[in-house]
Amino acid sequence: MQPSSGQGCATGPKTMTKTSCCKVGRVRDDYSMYNLDERLLHKYNEEDKGVRTLEDWFNQLVLERAMEKAGMTVLDGDAENYYRLLTDDDVLDSERRRAETELREQGVDVDTVNTDFISYRTLLSHLKDCLDIDTSRDYSPDISHDRKQISKMQTRFTNVVEGTLERLVRNGAASIDDPRASISFHVRCGECDRRHNVLDFLSENPVCPCQEAESAESNP
Ligand SMILES: [Zn+2]
Ligand SMILES: [Zn+2]
Repeated sequence: MQPSSGQGCATGPKTMTKTSCCKVGRVRDDYSMYNLDERLLHKYNEEDKGVRTLEDWFNQLVLERAMEKAGMTVLDGDAENYYRLLTDDDVLDSERRRAETELREQGVDVDTVNTDFISYRTLLSHLKDCLDIDTSRDYSPDISHDRKQISKMQTRFTNVVEGTLERLVRNGAASIDDPRASISFHVRCGECDRRHNVLDFLSENPVCPCQEAESAESNP
């Protein structure tokens, strides 16, 4: 299910150092976050925290560690506040830049911290694949992500087809100028037998008209 990014959890980097399960594991080790996985497990299972909350918690911890490492005195709420200033979409650019400057002046490597922040998806796959937690309650539909995956698949197939034809042409086994392949996936509704182009279907309201008619019949 996870898109393979080439740095999945199963394959560690081939280095002499201890291998990390994934980016979460790497950052955990870089910032010496002891018992991190136990704490994640506890927060997820016992305290019923969602992945979104744990993502913020983890990233704030990263920032706090970086601030401490730079020698800053970190008071309660400091890391939380700076994290918001660095990452929240509602924060003005000028505010964000001021926060970054403040941190840099105190010796914090803001760029490294920013790249060490983990995303929702990264944490979710760490919980699922590395810690083997059942995360099914955290599935949230993401149609635009799913569309992109399907679209990438289509591109991959057309590349293969075009490559095949070009090879045949080069070897004189076929004759066509600049072959362009195209592909689109379709789904058929089991109720009304309508055929939908999957990408079109998902780009609009993904409801088959027959399903809409069912609910409209009661109020004409
Ligand atoms: Zn991991
Ligand atoms: Zn239908």
